[in-house]
Amino acid sequence: MSGGVDAVKMKGGIVPRIEGIIPVTRDATTLSPPERLYVPLIQHIGKATLPLVEVGEYVQKGQVIGDVDALVTAPVHAPVSGRVIAIEERPHPSGSTCDTVVIENDFAERLHPSIVQGASKTDELAGSQIHVIARKAGISGMGGAGFPLHTKIAGAAGKVKMLLINGCECEPVESNDDILMSMFPHRVVEGARLLYRAVGLHDATICVEEDKGQAIQALTGYIGNADDIRLLVLPTLYPQGCERMIIKAADNYEVPRSCYPIDRGYMVNNVSTVAALYDACKEGMPLIERFVTVTGSIVQTPAVYSVRIGTPFSHLISRCGILTDSVAKIVSGGSMMGIAQFSQEAPVIKTVTCLLLMSEAEARLDRSTNCIRCGRCTRVCPMRLNPCLLNFYADAKNYEELEAQCVDSCVECGSCSYCCPARLPLLQKIKLMKFELTKHRQSIRMRQRGH
Ligand code: SF4
Ligand code: SF4
Repeated sequence: MSGGVDAVKMKGGIVPRIEGIIPVTRDATTLSPPERLYVPLIQHIGKATLPLVEVGEYVQKGQVIGDVDALVTAPVHAPVSGRVIAIEERPHPSGSTCDTVVIENDFAERLHPSIVQGASKTDELAGSQIHVIARKAGISGMGGAGFPLHTKIAGAAGKVKMLLINGCECEPVESNDDILMSMFPHRVVEGARLLYRAVGLHDATICVEEDKGQAIQALTGYIGNADDIRLLVLPTLYPQGCERMIIKAADNYEVPRSCYPIDRGYMVNNVSTVAALYDACKEGMPLIERFVTVTGSIVQTPAVYSVRIGTPFSHLISRCGILTDSVAKIVSGGSMMGIAQFSQEAPVIKTVTCLLLMSEAEARLDRSTNCIRCGRCTRVCPMRLNPCLLNFYADAKNYEELEAQCVDSCVECGSCSYCCPARLPLLQKIKLMKFELTKHRQSIRMRQRGH
């Protein structure tokens, strides 16, 4: 095991104030599935799946209910057994809407016959078989990004030299990865072993922040003297969970802004993703359940829940004990990078890591004042950007300068907004500008082609 002294500290970063809202319970509560589950046909980056079931059809737990023939996609599965009562457009945690399969739960938990539990000897699986299982199980990045795992494996073949398993929470208020590592170190370590074989390597490094003592102890105990899994303890700093920061910490290498990590031989996957790979290879179980942190000052006991995919947020909220009459704002994904929800009926999907529930007072937006040129945003930016300047060019809609200032390389961590004394919505503006810049480039290309 390597200690924090070996890890290279990233540039910038913050230590946010999270007292009182970080879960203190050390295990996950299994939430019983609701009467109706809402399974969106897209839960990943890539092409949306098409429904493979019809209204009125009976489905079994683990059955594929949506798929499409495309490289970048991931099938979706029924999280419970029951009857399909609708396929309709419904709220999605991304903040938009999406075609969704609505299943009325019969609470029989009938498993689909394709799922043969406990049948596989995982150490006998070849890399190509693990790749196929990752697709069949519909595994996509569970740290929030949602990139299909099988696509990532295919892209890594022959390119990857270092596999990093990310056990740093994506958001400071989250504990789902911490609890997963503490409770199920074997799923994480064996999942890492499966993944390194799938990409043609012989080892992997699991990265954990130094404040996750119980997880470190559990992983250390399970790894024992094995030399194929290295445990690297990193300083607790946000956004340590960002893949470029993990690479810097583990290998003292900064991936150039213009490159993807895989272009330089690095593959980073979340601990939940590799645990899901283990479940799929060992138990034949597709990705139909995940750990979700539910927190906020109005939550009686912030905690981690094991939740079926398709469970509406309203069901989760009704079970977690709210201290006020109503929840004024729901943020899916945490305080720094999360997305505010317009409906409590949006469901938990494969990429939902956390629900942050806010009171009326917390939900009120602070009034911004003028930039006082304090430079704090520049000091904390892990990508060495100048958010103050990006804000200035965003207001001026100066696309050329935004491009010259590398706005595209912003990893949207929100550290700049968090520390800005003028309460400027820096992250929001930068995100908007990235979107507008993409449209601007498209319109230039269209003009050049004479459209
Ligand atoms: S500019 Fe982007 S990467 Fe830099 S601190 Fe702000 S949100 Fe994070
Ligand atoms: S932190 Fe805010 S006030 Fe300070 S320089 Fe950056 S934008 Fe201006």
